Amino acid sequence: MYTQRISIEINTKVNKDELIDEFGLLMSFYRSNGQTQGRIESQYIENDKIVCLPFTLEKHSLEKKNNNYYVNKQTEKIENLCNSKLTFKTVGKSYDSYKTPCECEKSDFYILITNYITIESPVTCGTCNKSVPLYRFPIYHDYGYLPILSWETNYVSCDSLQMNCEVGERWALNQMQKINSQLSKQGLEICRKIAELTLVPTFYYLHNYKKVKEDQSERHCPNCNEKWDLKKQIHDCYDFKCDNCNIISTISPNT
Ligand SMILES: [Zn+2]
Ligand SMILES: [Zn+2]
Repeated sequence: MYTQRISIEINTKVNKDELIDEFGLLMSFYRSNGQTQGRIESQYIENDKIVCLPFTLEKHSLEKKNNNYYVNKQTEKIENLCNSKLTFKTVGKSYDSYKTPCECEKSDFYILITNYITIESPVTCGTCNKSVPLYRFPIYHDYGYLPILSWETNYVSCDSLQMNCEVGERWALNQMQKINSQLSKQGLEICRKIAELTLVPTFYYLHNYKKVKEDQSERHCPNCNEKWDLKKQIHDCYDFKCDNCNIISTISPNT
């Protein structure tokens, strides 16, 4: 993950509270276009400069060619309010072990997956198992990817409840592990649409909490009931995959 520095010199008498609101809006447009990661970034005023430090998946995520209509429109508004131009600088990588995002020319399949702690893209590449920046996909909805990020937030909320254990643990776990839950339905619809837009099969990651019986014959897809265990584990992680239903899962770590 990269940390970027977006800043702008304030050369007018614009009200700074108003400017901070407009800047916040720009950051939310970057986020809904998949150009920045994470839920909140540092933002501050330094003398007559407003500065923001978002995370991005690629060094060049904030390049103009990745902008959408809303990002461009809001950039223009802020530049007019300040009578200066936004400047961009890469501060550095956030940690050493960070993998670059997917660089496959064509992915065999995609996986919709996230968890309570990650700020990577909710779509990973089935070929290389790396994150796929959302802005690489055809526009999903209204110049951006908000419905995918809405599923992501819902999933993160459920995962946080089940990690914290005290409030709504069972309900949240069922949202994550039952194929017909509202959360799974929302995710499966997103997978269907990504596949339609990209012509690449897109799998929904179904959380598996329950220990699976040792007998292989007991392992069946929870949707179509066909056998779905993989002969060989994929990416040291996935043990089950149903190509009829586009769902993928793992053996539960619980014993
Ligand atoms: Zn890839
Ligand atoms: Zn199935």
